[in-house]
Amino acid sequence: MDYNYHTHTVYCGHATDSAEDYIRRAIDCGIRYLGFSDHAPFRFPDGYEAGFRVPVGQAKNYFEELSRLREKYRGEIEIRIGFEMEYYPDHFENMRQVAVDFGAEYLILGQHYVLPENQGGVFSMDRHYEFEDLRAYSNSLVAAMKTGVFTYVAHPDMYNFIGDNLLYREEMRKICIASRKMNLPLELNLLGIRDNRIYPREEFWKVAGEEDAPVTFGFDAHAAMDVYDKASVTVAERMVKKYALNYIGKPDLKLL
Ligand SMILES: [Zn+2]
Ligand SMILES: [Zn+2]
Repeated sequence: MDYNYHTHTVYCGHATDSAEDYIRRAIDCGIRYLGFSDHAPFRFPDGYEAGFRVPVGQAKNYFEELSRLREKYRGEIEIRIGFEMEYYPDHFENMRQVAVDFGAEYLILGQHYVLPENQGGVFSMDRHYEFEDLRAYSNSLVAAMKTGVFTYVAHPDMYNFIGDNLLYREEMRKICIASRKMNLPLELNLLGIRDNRIYPREEFWKVAGEEDAPVTFGFDAHAAMDVYDKASVTVAERMVKKYALNYIGKPDLKLL
């Protein structure tokens, strides 16, 4: 694996190590294509700014530091600078514009919340058992995919639905079918493997295999060491075999 487009930085406040440490580690491990995709900066119209994002006041520094490093390591590694972003219909256009104005080259979708954070959020990884909530999640993912701006869908299986499995599979199938039809990859998230999270969720990837959705990997690094880790790649490769996933390798960037 010589690519990783899912990398955080200290700017989001919950990752460690300098950006240069990530880059050095990536080069050492044979990564040739490295994308930084920290949590997109955004101030809601009511002034609210969530604590997990790159602060709006720091976003310029994020780009300046990464751009400087990109030049420094040019020839050794190809660096791209973007964001991981949620899709909220009422704010989407503003969020996208803010990202573009700061200089984002690409976006990955990370639907950590279903409702905007200033409206109570609804954290995807919390336990959910209402079918309507699951449907709201799958609808928001498909709507996000249709915007055409996202390079891929990070951890599409992060929604922790604990209700009926049959309903779960049918809702996830909609996401997988949309992915195949739009040729928009789904990310098998290696942080989930490393951290033993609720994702990757086996049932999801079984459906993804059945629907032949394009699949890519992302380390979702929040520390320099995790910009590459062989153990989680091995587990992910096993899942590719087990569910006959359509693994595409390095995704094509949708440049903004
Ligand atoms: Zn994420
Ligand atoms: Zn992430």
